[in-house]
Amino acid sequence: MSVKGPRKAYEDAKVHLELLGEAHEIECKVRVGRTQVHELLPLARSLSASILAISTAHARAQGKEISCQKGCTHCCRQLVPVSPIEARRLGEVMAAMPEPRRAEVRERFVRAIGRLEQAGLVDSKAPKGRAALVSKEATSSAAWDDVSRRYYELRIDCPFLEGDLCSIYEERPIACREYNAVTDPALCEALDPGIEIAPRPSPMGDVLTKVTGELTGKPQAGIPLPLALEWARVHGKTLERERDGEAMFWALLRVMEEDGA
Ligand code: SF4
Repeated sequence: MSVKGPRKAYEDAKVHLELLGEAHEIECKVRVGRTQVHELLPLARSLSASILAISTAHARAQGKEISCQKGCTHCCRQLVPVSPIEARRLGEVMAAMPEPRRAEVRERFVRAIGRLEQAGLVDSKAPKGRAALVSKEATSSAAWDDVSRRYYELRIDCPFLEGDLCSIYEERPIACREYNAVTDPALCEALDPGIEIAPRPSPMGDVLTKVTGELTGKPQAGIPLPLALEWARVHGKTLERERDGEAMFWALLRVMEEDGA
């Protein structure tokens, strides 16, 4: 589908959602008119933040407090899946970094990928633009558990982690924003199956990945954070395809609903 007409304008929208057993109204800004697929990111972040606020309030009402604190970085050594649109954005964030910082962060990415290849988690012979980790498990949930565990055993710092703080906090992926643990950080440190996060519907990063697949006509998968820049260099342009902004908004809402929001 191609879209003709003047580029971009925003409309205010109110979204009515049934969340955690209650009706909620969420306000957001929707891009209308010709819009590139990657421009869905601000809307997805905004909906994620509103849902997160509801989820946090819901957890507190049940007597659960968010245990995530500044300087706690266990989740920054866990496997963080990044949606394709976010991978492209991280490429832009890197491009905007001044030297020599950019070179330093890039070197951390290179080292992280090297360790993943060495551990057999990333196929070193696969063409660049890789998104898959290598598991010997057959079913998808067992494969996810397997690669998550093996990834965490390597204790690879996220390349954006500096002095136990996220150096790109305002641009961090949705998976990082939505990791809202309500259990003891010691469980995060041990990657214990008992880690509990504040209850919320389907992760917005997964929703964004799925809708991106629909909008680009090619199924997409979450990208392990260390592979995000490589993926963006190879495939990022595919997200510059133009669609109608309002239609993209409705597609996002539909996938949210299908996935349990
Ligand atoms: S992007 Fe930031 S919050 Fe996310 S894993 Fe990396 S350092 Fe941690």
